Formats: sequence, structure tokens, C-alpha cells
Amino acid sequence: MAIIIDTSICQGVDACPEHGLCIEICALNALDNVDGRPVVNEDACPECGLCIMNCPKEAISKP
Ligand code: SF4
Ligand code: SF4
Repeated sequence: MAIIIDTSICQGVDACPEHGLCIEICALNALDNVDGRPVVNEDACPECGLCIMNCPKEAISKP
């Protein structure tokens, strides 16, 4: 399992009010910047919730 990023809410790092904070704060490096969008590596994410709590657009959730 892994978190879900709603791409209708998150318009990518350039449009992010915190400039891709989710990618920066993931201590496990489970989020990659792929063509300007955060993409989760499902094998690396234990759903700790840190990115969910810190996304300024509330674009990230647990399944
Ligand atoms: S913090 Fe939220 S809005 Fe910003 S890039 Fe990450 S998912 Fe998108
Ligand atoms: S839930 Fe935790 S481990 Fe998973 S991507 Fe977000 S910050 Fe990283």
C-alpha cells in the first residue's frame, strides 16, 4: 500500500504553494519528482502520514 496523490488537486511542484514540500520532507525518499510531479514509490512508503499532514493543498491521502 501507499499514499495516493490526487493529481486533480496537486498541479505539480511548480504550482505547489510549498514548492514540492512533500518530496522534501519524506524521510524515506519515497516521493520522486517525475516530470515536475510527485510520484510515490509504493515499495518505500509505509504511509507514515507526514506528507499528508504537510501538503498545503491537502492533495495526499491514504487509500
Ligand atoms: S506538497 Fe501537495 S501540492 Fe505540493 S507538490 Fe506535494 S502533493 Fe503537490
Ligand atoms: S506517507 Fe510518509 S513515507 Fe509515505 S511518501 Fe508520505 S512522508 Fe513518505
